[in-house]
Amino acid sequence: MENTKNKKKCAIHDVMLCTFCEKEIIEAKLTYTEDAEPSHIKCLEDFNKHWEDRAVMMDLMGY
Ligand SMILES: [Zn+2]
Repeated sequence: MENTKNKKKCAIHDVMLCTFCEKEIIEAKLTYTEDAEPSHIKCLEDFNKHWEDRAVMMDLMGY
């Protein structure tokens, strides 16, 4: 099996701003959304959680 993922090792000099809270992201907390937008790991988790909660609620409500 070949690993097709290319891990780029380039220094990021630009300040990355979170797509959710619009604050600076340090590299250790940087992740990307499905749309390749930079975001905090926590913010993306919260975002995903929000939609999971909604989905669960919809299920409970019978939609
Ligand atoms: Zn954020």
